[in-house]
Amino acid sequence: GPPGSSTSIRQVKLDKECELRVEVSPDSPLRLRLLTGSAEIFGTEIAPEIWLTFPPRLKFAVFTWYGATIEMDGTTETDYTADETPMISYVNVHAVLDARRHRAKASPSDSDASQGPRVIVVGPTDSGKSTLSRMLLSWAAKQGWKPTFVDLDIGQGSITIPGCIAATPIELPIDPVEGIPLDMPLVYFHGHVTPSVNVDLYKVLVKELAQILERQFTGNVESRAAGMVINTMGWIEGVGYELLLHAIDTFNATVVLVLGQEKLWSMLRDVLKNKANVDVVKLQKSGGVVSRNAKVRQKARAYRIREYFYGLANDLSPHSNIASFSDLFIYRVGGGPQAPRSALPAGAEPAADPTRLIPVSVNQDLLHLVLAVSFAKEPDEIISSNVAGFIWITDINFESKKITYLAPSAGNLPGKYLIMGSLTCLLMFCDS
Ligand code: ADP
Repeated sequence: GPPGSSTSIRQVKLDKECELRVEVSPDSPLRLRLLTGSAEIFGTEIAPEIWLTFPPRLKFAVFTWYGATIEMDGTTETDYTADETPMISYVNVHAVLDARRHRAKASPSDSDASQGPRVIVVGPTDSGKSTLSRMLLSWAAKQGWKPTFVDLDIGQGSITIPGCIAATPIELPIDPVEGIPLDMPLVYFHGHVTPSVNVDLYKVLVKELAQILERQFTGNVESRAAGMVINTMGWIEGVGYELLLHAIDTFNATVVLVLGQEKLWSMLRDVLKNKANVDVVKLQKSGGVVSRNAKVRQKARAYRIREYFYGLANDLSPHSNIASFSDLFIYRVGGGPQAPRSALPAGAEPAADPTRLIPVSVNQDLLHLVLAVSFAKEPDEIISSNVAGFIWITDINFESKKITYLAPSAGNLPGKYLIMGSLTCLLMFCDS
């Protein structure tokens, strides 16, 4: 294998404030356990002695504040120890947030003062945004807070499948293997893996999500004081930058953490300098963050969708269902490419309304698409409604007018209306 990779059972001794960085091999899982000392994986402490099994391709670090011995069994793509990490600066941020949560908790009846920190993590792709979000959430949960995790990254989000934005309360430190529990996420379906396909729809959904959370916070002092951690996309130029500003504004972020880019930090600091209650903080990117090229990202998305239907360890069996064409009410949002307003004569409206609902009759193009099942009761509620889950169209029979689809569980769909985008489930991307 490549330098730094190894196969046998071996022990690694970590000095204080060092980490073991691991990329699990693409073909087989890796077992790992803590032998002595204490250690954490992205903010979650690992229990002594107990073997943890990490699935192929996972990239993670075992960090220790005071020293530890780790044992590994299995192949890795790479593993090495690093003594330079930005962990002290990250945990200092956590300490500041913790103090603000305590302050918020102390004034439950004041609508402004009772709001805990709303942290938004921004930076280019592969700067460690998701990882930092995760650490901040796990450290907070360890201290008994129940912060809300908001993931606005529709390309590589960690709450649900790609093509969505989502939020979920984090009540326990995040499991280093399983990730975010999928119990009760609040999910809005955009349908595409980049917002550029329909920027207006993305903004509308961000707004809907923010409004719902705002409403939930009003009735829940505990989650209000714990605040939010918001992860964002790595698209930080042009429209991507506008979308960051839109998210900061829509969620009333009070702390902006900028990872790994001086320019973005200085731009945000300048535009936000008049907002007295917003801190813009520059943080160092970890040397352990692994860059992923477009192909790796595409694969990661395919795996994520497969995981939704089949489970992380291929341990779930989705149900195959058959429905008549006439029983399915499928919609898509937005009509075709949007003409920029600037390209139109003065006063004219763009013809294709980006948030217009268009009914779709069953056609060959639906094959292999992943559709969202909306909670909407009426078609005109579709855009403002969150989704219950997803189905995957696996067969269309035009003679019998029947569609076969996979759903994570048996029984009736939790909603009548289905939303399509460009999201497909092509398992071939899962094979190397
Ligand atoms: P971003 O959200 O900015 O795109 P991520 O946080 O998802 O970046 O990090 C990219 C990849 O690097 C992920 O697979 C993550 O698990 C891995 N990673 C992050 N930090 C470390 C580290 N210190 N050691 C090893 N892998 C890491």
